[in-house]
Parts: sequence; C-alpha cells; structure tokens
Amino acid sequence: MTRGFKINENEKYFRYELAGSPSANMLFTTRRGGVSEGRYSSLNMGYSTCDSKENIYKNRAIVLNDFDLSIDRMTSSDQVHGVELRAVRSCSEDAGECDGLFTDAKNTVLSMYFADCTPLFFYDPVKKAIGLSHAGWRGTVGDIASKSVGFMKEKYGSSAGDIIAVIGPSIGKCCFEVGSEVEAEFTEKLNNINVKEYIGVKEERAGKFYIDLKAINKKLLESAGIKSENIHVHDACTSCMKDFFYSYRRDAGDTGRMAALAFIE
Ligand SMILES: [Zn+2]
Repeated sequence: MTRGFKINENEKYFRYELAGSPSANMLFTTRRGGVSEGRYSSLNMGYSTCDSKENIYKNRAIVLNDFDLSIDRMTSSDQVHGVELRAVRSCSEDAGECDGLFTDAKNTVLSMYFADCTPLFFYDPVKKAIGLSHAGWRGTVGDIASKSVGFMKEKYGSSAGDIIAVIGPSIGKCCFEVGSEVEAEFTEKLNNINVKEYIGVKEERAGKFYIDLKAINKKLLESAGIKSENIHVHDACTSCMKDFFYSYRRDAGDTGRMAALAFIE
C-alpha cells in the first residue's frame, strides 16, 4: 500500500509529511525568511560559511521556534563527504566527523547542511527511528544510501520494507556537470546498478557528463530493500532555483547552507 506523502511549503522550509506518521518531522530549509544579508541572504543555516555567527544562530532559532523547540535541541556533525554514520541518543552528544545521523530519541533534532549535495531522510514508523544522510557525489559513489539502510537495521532492528525515505532538493542532472574522472568513479564503483542510465551528455559540451544524483540514490535505496513507493523524491534543482536555494557550484563556493532537519516528537 502506498503511504500518502505531501510536500508542504512555506517561506522558510519544505516540510515532508507522511500520512499516518504525524510524529515524524522532516524539513529542508530554503534561503528565505532569515536575517542574513548579501550572498548569504537570508536564512543561512550553516556555520561552515563566512556569515556572522550571530545571524546563523538567529536563523536556526527562527526555524526551531515554529516547533517550540530551543536551539540546544539541535545536534550536528562535521560533514566530511564520507560514509561514516552515527546514532545519537541525545542532542548533547558530539557526533564528530560523519555524514549520517540517526536517533530514536524524541525531540532530538538531527541536522545536516547542504548547498547542492543530496539530502536523504529516513523514517521507520515501526521502530520509531529517524535519520539523515549527506550524499554528495562522493557519498553517492560510496553508497551512503544503502549503508544508511543497513545502519538502521543494525541499530534499531528496522526492516528495509518498513523504511520510508525522502530525497530532498539537490543539484539536478541539468546542472551537475562533471569531467570524465568523476564519471569513471560512478561507473567503476557503482557496478551493482546500471549507473550509465543516470548519466547524460550534451552535444555542445564534449567530454562532460551530467549525473542524476537523486535518481542514483533512489536506485541504491531500492537495491537496499526500500520499496519504491516508499521513496519520495523532491525534484528541485538547487542550482536552477536561485530564489529558493543556495548552490555551492552556482555561487562559486561562497554561499550559505540549507539545513535538513529530522526529529521525532
Ligand atoms: Zn539545474
């Protein structure tokens, strides 16, 4: 049976709602409705930028306020484009360097930060566990998608067939241009799926390739046992949608960050 899924949008964030799972909160922030200025305008959520720390703190509080949560409920990690995953029991735990955060503790707000990479959200309504992972191209090639599913099985006793996944906004195939060395990593390392299906070329851009990170992650999640009807893709390109999103590539590296937030009530 397909579960109902809805993307609710307000100025500050997209909220992914799963029918029958009102306690699962999964959000992806936009660049709107915050206090930052200039190239960080305005809802910059990430400290790995040159924006003022005070503004970032205020922006985080603006979002959490909507849920009556204080900013000290948030937990984050140092994202390093790897495939390490961590389970946290409370928001005071330091997750260290890792690219996936999971919890079954209530009101512990998992957070990861993005400006083109693909956010993966996970929720197991049976074991009541939630998670997030950061799938840039390196994480995608390292199959952080199915490692995340394996991690939920191991830590929470989840069955892949119960897990619901949301693939959030990231740079689209339209804009994610890479050279042959990156294309080769995909074709060599992701040999369990027909990865070539998700890599395109453009006649006018000889020697360049266009990779569909969202579609590859979807395929990897399916190969890890998540039912395709339980995988929801928010098909928005962070590079194309300038008014909504920061884009590391489009903005030549100096830009803000959107946050993926996940918590259970
Ligand atoms: Zn695009």
